[in-house]
Amino acid sequence: MGRRPMLWSMSFARLPFDPETYLTDVRMFQQEGFGAVYLIDDEQKAIIETGTSWDASKILEAVKTFGLRPSDIDALVVSHIHLDHAGGAGFLLPDMPRAKVYVHERGFKHLVDPSKLVASAHQALNDDEANLFGTMRPIPPDRLVAVKDQDRLDLGTHSLVFYDSPGHAPHELAILDERNRCVYTGDAAGLYFPGDEILMPIAPAPSFDLEKNLETFRHLLALKPRALLFSHYGPHGKPRAAIEAMMALYPSWGRVVKERLASAGEDGVLRELYDMTCRAAKRFPRDFLERRIRVSIRGLAAYHERLEHVGPRR
Ligand SMILES: [Zn+2]
Repeated sequence: MGRRPMLWSMSFARLPFDPETYLTDVRMFQQEGFGAVYLIDDEQKAIIETGTSWDASKILEAVKTFGLRPSDIDALVVSHIHLDHAGGAGFLLPDMPRAKVYVHERGFKHLVDPSKLVASAHQALNDDEANLFGTMRPIPPDRLVAVKDQDRLDLGTHSLVFYDSPGHAPHELAILDERNRCVYTGDAAGLYFPGDEILMPIAPAPSFDLEKNLETFRHLLALKPRALLFSHYGPHGKPRAAIEAMMALYPSWGRVVKERLASAGEDGVLRELYDMTCRAAKRFPRDFLERRIRVSIRGLAAYHERLEHVGPRR
């Protein structure tokens, strides 16, 4: 894959929903419109999502271009502990002496000692991809805050409420901003590719759980959000339609993987899911979208296998 020269200027752009919430594109995996990092510029300053370890310097740059000092940042919130969401945190902290990292209580110990997390992520990826996902730096426990369902973080006029949102991962949080009623979905609500307007499941091994993710969708609907703020990527202004589309797509993808993987193989299933979901792709390269789909094929296969071992639910 050819690397593009990094010529864009890093800055935070204001979201339409309120005057204090901003978004920057860190060009995660060298792809435009995939890695969203949010800034809430309130009395307390919060950054939502920290990207991969590669993205930390870009976030620092964006904060400075915005006119803040990195030492002004009070909170780094990670939706879950996968490397593309929490990987940047340990690399940002030395420049952000006031900041604490807010993480799901189930993810806490993995940020203190990320060795297992990094090893298992790299095990699941080929060398190229492992390089793109970067690495992690241990975070001292006194810089971490373990978050439980319905915990709150008050920033001044903005108040964030954390919700346990399992499915994508057991340590996944969705975060409601009570001021503007937007929900940061992490990877709990799948992937959104703006411009192409593609909605895509993301169901990674080893712990993706379809039933739990469907439950999470029902909970997200009940919050009646004004917009969804995807980590991949950006604001979606029709939350109900987006979530309902995902509630249909996840089980359909699950069925295709279950019924077709043995006969069609991974490449055959990949073609079917691409045709089902990505026909409209123009802005996002086919190869990039296919890599995301492969992750879910493997995760859904692992999920079905787990169910078979457990046996049917009563
Ligand atoms: Zn992700």
